[in-house]
Amino acid sequence: MKHIKHIFFDLDNTLWDFEKNSREALLHLFNESDISILCDVSFENFIATYEKINHHLWHQYSLKQIVKEELRYQRFHQSFKHYQYNNIELAKQWADEYLKISPYKTHLIEGSIETLDYLQGKYTLHLITNGFKEVQHIKLDCCGLKPYFNHLIISEDHGYNKPDIKLFEIAQSLANTNKNECVMIGDNYEADIIGALNAGWDAIFLSSSPIDNSIEKLTRIEKLIELKDLF
Ligand SMILES: [Mg+2]
Repeated sequence: MKHIKHIFFDLDNTLWDFEKNSREALLHLFNESDISILCDVSFENFIATYEKINHHLWHQYSLKQIVKEELRYQRFHQSFKHYQYNNIELAKQWADEYLKISPYKTHLIEGSIETLDYLQGKYTLHLITNGFKEVQHIKLDCCGLKPYFNHLIISEDHGYNKPDIKLFEIAQSLANTNKNECVMIGDNYEADIIGALNAGWDAIFLSSSPIDNSIEKLTRIEKLIELKDLF
């Protein structure tokens, strides 16, 4: 990847361990409430339902089919309703509490710091995230990631979500570069990878799932630390 000068990272589940951090925050909410009784459900079952619903709502949000406010509380409201418990007020309360707790969690994806230490100085590093802006800055501050990045591109600030090509074009112009010098690294095939490829960038998919090897400009890694061999 000799032509690359700018490396753009996704944040959630690429560097910041969203799944682990989110589960800790949800366990707190779960234990502080009577949900186990009201929904007659264990935490493990509840979280499995929640994650499926949350994933689907994020997908709709990235495609602008729902707005942020709906995503914020519908993920809880729909999870409650899955267990025949309908309480929109509690869902809204959880939505607020969750965003107050989760961004302060600091679990990172394995190899994050070692990899960023290796890349910084050699390349200019940036972030592109669809996450909510009021929490992304807190996450970066709390886990010490902020100093690694030159530009932090939050979709909400620009009115376009990944995979919209316009967000990649904005990122490219902020970095003052061209598409041939850019690579996107992320865990979400649709948002990170399709978006980057459509913008003419290289893309690196962080995943244990196989990919179509015939796609030019696309590489897959299973661990972040593999980036040390690629760059
Ligand atoms: Mg992600």
